[in-house]
Amino acid sequence: MAAHDSVERKYVYDFAEGNKDLKDLLGGKGANLAEMTNLGLPVPPGFTITTEACKAYLTTGREPDGLAAQIEAHLESLEREMGRRLGDPDDPLLVSVRSGAKFSMPGMMETVLNVGLNDRSVVGLSAQAGRNDRFAWDSYRRLIQMFGKTVCEVPGEEFEHALDEIKRAKGTHDDLDLDADDLRGLVGAYKKIFAKHTGREFPQEPREQLDLAIRAVFDSWNAERAVLYRRQERIPADLGTAVNVVAMVFGNLGPDSGTGVAFTRDPGSGAQGIYGDYLANAQGEDVVAGIRNTVPLQELEQLDKTSYDQLLGIMARLEEHYKDLCDIEFTIERGKLWMLQTRVGKRTAAAAFVIAGQLVDEGLIDLDEALHRVNGAQLAQLMFPRFQLDHEFEAVAKGIGASPGAASGKVVFTSARAVELAAEGEAVILVRRETNPDDLNGMIAARGILTSRGGKTSHAAVVARGMGKTCVSGADELDVNVPAKRFTVGDHVVNEGDVVSIDGTTGKVYLGEVPVMPSEVVQYFEGELDPETTDDALVRAVHRIMTHADAARRLRVRTNADTGADAARARRFGAEGIGLCRTEHMFLGDRRELVERLILASGEREREDALAALLPLQRADFIEIFREMDGLPVTVRLIDPPLHEFLPPLEQLAVNVAVAQERGEDVAKEEALLAAVRRMHEENPMLGLRGVRLGLVIPGLFAMQVRAIAEAAVAVVRDGGTACPEIMVPLVGAVQELETVRAEAERIIAEVVGDSGVEVLIGTMIEVPRAALTAGQIAEAAEFFSFGTNDLTQMGWGFSRDDVEGAFFWRYLELGIFGISPFESIDTDGVGRLIRIAAEEGRAARPGLKLGVCGEHGGDPDSVHFFHSVGLDYVSCSPFRVPVARLEAGRAAITTTGSDSR
Ligand code: ADP
Ligand code: MG
Ligand code: MG
Repeated sequence: MAAHDSVERKYVYDFAEGNKDLKDLLGGKGANLAEMTNLGLPVPPGFTITTEACKAYLTTGREPDGLAAQIEAHLESLEREMGRRLGDPDDPLLVSVRSGAKFSMPGMMETVLNVGLNDRSVVGLSAQAGRNDRFAWDSYRRLIQMFGKTVCEVPGEEFEHALDEIKRAKGTHDDLDLDADDLRGLVGAYKKIFAKHTGREFPQEPREQLDLAIRAVFDSWNAERAVLYRRQERIPADLGTAVNVVAMVFGNLGPDSGTGVAFTRDPGSGAQGIYGDYLANAQGEDVVAGIRNTVPLQELEQLDKTSYDQLLGIMARLEEHYKDLCDIEFTIERGKLWMLQTRVGKRTAAAAFVIAGQLVDEGLIDLDEALHRVNGAQLAQLMFPRFQLDHEFEAVAKGIGASPGAASGKVVFTSARAVELAAEGEAVILVRRETNPDDLNGMIAARGILTSRGGKTSHAAVVARGMGKTCVSGADELDVNVPAKRFTVGDHVVNEGDVVSIDGTTGKVYLGEVPVMPSEVVQYFEGELDPETTDDALVRAVHRIMTHADAARRLRVRTNADTGADAARARRFGAEGIGLCRTEHMFLGDRRELVERLILASGEREREDALAALLPLQRADFIEIFREMDGLPVTVRLIDPPLHEFLPPLEQLAVNVAVAQERGEDVAKEEALLAAVRRMHEENPMLGLRGVRLGLVIPGLFAMQVRAIAEAAVAVVRDGGTACPEIMVPLVGAVQELETVRAEAERIIAEVVGDSGVEVLIGTMIEVPRAALTAGQIAEAAEFFSFGTNDLTQMGWGFSRDDVEGAFFWRYLELGIFGISPFESIDTDGVGRLIRIAAEEGRAARPGLKLGVCGEHGGDPDSVHFFHSVGLDYVSCSPFRVPVARLEAGRAAITTTGSDSR
């Protein structure tokens, strides 16, 4: 083995030795202090102890060899540069000890200021400041307080109580009214508190203070709150933190001194301007602690114009250098400005877009970089209406934020009532225990949906998300009584017609009407706001970045839409076709009766009659959709759910029969239905008679649908339009299934289409694992594949989609078995592997095979990147997700570097 300690590792870097790209080694704070130093900005001298030293300490439980000597050497050179020695009784150098990890972590240890002060150097500090005793004792009491709290875990409140006590005795609320004697007394009180909690006197040896503080920063990496924060933010646990030792500069030397924080642009809106707070005669931590009222940074211009101008110059310089919004911390010591921190600042979703657009205008970044700096989650957030920020309503319940947005309206308990009131122009909130497919009209009519049961994948949640409608599900504090038309929550009784407000992001439920604002981004996508003429900076920025994403992306984006209205909206949102048109809704409502006839048909004749009655209805539906999607492909899925889903539930039928018998009415039909429901009952309907199996068992069913599609296409073409239908067979697991359906379909299509020029593709969903694994065979009979990732996930994992989220996903998430529900974001290792295999083997068997995705995942940002990497042709998602998918497909195409967006 090589003598690993022959070359000693470098654990300490002077600020002049680092730069902003060394965040892994120096932490964010240290790397940026070094960067500013090298830019020639006024940074107090200091050095950074690396994350490597921290990691070595955390693994072995002691400081690594050589660290102490390196700290000593850097401290000496700092002392030489400052012309003062740490804690010297006559003319002390003081330092701050500051933690700083790669990612900013609010859960970490705070900073210790004024290290090096003790009973003797406090006198020297006073002399240094021109016999300013007040300042010296104020600095000393701050040291004991911060050191006690962060290094020795003394409860912070005890210090605060002692401070309040003195202020009370003095009859003031302002710590500026305390004089040197008061503060000397406070130091005495603080020392007692320190000794009581630690069993030792406050350390007087400056170097011991320094070493203990450094060690405490190392240890803070594994403090409980830091561990929790990292887990939540998915920050790796093994990065360690760096420690910065910085020569103190003083903002508490008098009225010509002070401290502040600032942003180079408004992190809320992205607007250009000066945003910051300033506090005269104070040390850094006072600003954040809110001990005294800060003044807007603009007022510094009156107080100290030279420093103010210099600060604005530095802020402009930093923006230009980092090419991004920066936030900064600074201190002014008797008219001299010092920079204490900078970093690329956090911002809201709106500000992210606006700033990216501005920086392009200013020539600081190009459009690729602008696209890289925003994301689909931010765009999605901007597409929902929201409650006004300053409302004062209190939530009465909290459910699951199942579909974001904000909505208020009158409570209704049935779909019919929702439709009625909405027709009268009322805003309504549909409240149910849980919803079912019959509530669809009510859900469309309502502003929002509130249920007391069900999770993020319940019917209400999935359908609401698809419609872009606000939904809170599983608000289990609500006791919903539909027959009585009321719900109770706590002591409140809410009757039909009472107004409630729901927040689909937070899951909160309010009584009364919380004011809502519409999304200007949606107004833009709807074509109601012209991006060229609007003065809305957000809309202009979104337009610009979306245009670039569209130019950059390779994935096409289609929509899932079952109606002409959905298709039209999705098209406005940029959809390039329909990737999934479900046909089951075409069997609902007043068409149920025909489905019942189909199911109860006793012979070929009756069945054919029922199908013949359904044919024109379906054809009309398809005509409407093809017209809206004129010239673009429309993938129609043949009927998928089990037929008994179209019949009333067993219990209800049983009751109907009993009641009718009681009344002596003719119950023949009810009895027949009841018998059919009993006959068709399945233990596992999701694994039962559905999809292609249904088509192979019920003669004429698929044939009727294929005919309706082909006839609709011909009708549209005869009218001068262009229809591009693609027929999709669901739930295929074996090529033989598809071949059987295909043979019949081709016959019908040839007969209907004739010489009209209509071309109809036939393909299949890949949603059963066996289909993915035999994709090479299936491709022989399919012109396209569409991955049904919901079922593929369900069957890949063996998770019943309707049950598992509420039942145990919380535990799986807690244990980290997965970081996010595989129904929300594609499981790339497992389900994703099935997709890869199917894509590769399918294309090998049939070059030019079209590949797409039509599950909920088609609009999930992370999943879109995965589908791009697999080389699919398109994703399809609900209309509201279309812009998100466009944006992320663009980002996937330009993402070449692995730079951190955290
Ligand atoms: P945080 O990460 O919590 O902001 P910092 O290490 O930045 O912690 O320090 C907290 C406060 O102390 C900041 O306001 C900072 O400006 C101030 N501060 C840190 N080091 C010094 C120093 N050497 N001189 C004066 N003020 C300092
Ligand atoms: Mg800071
Ligand atoms: Mg499916």
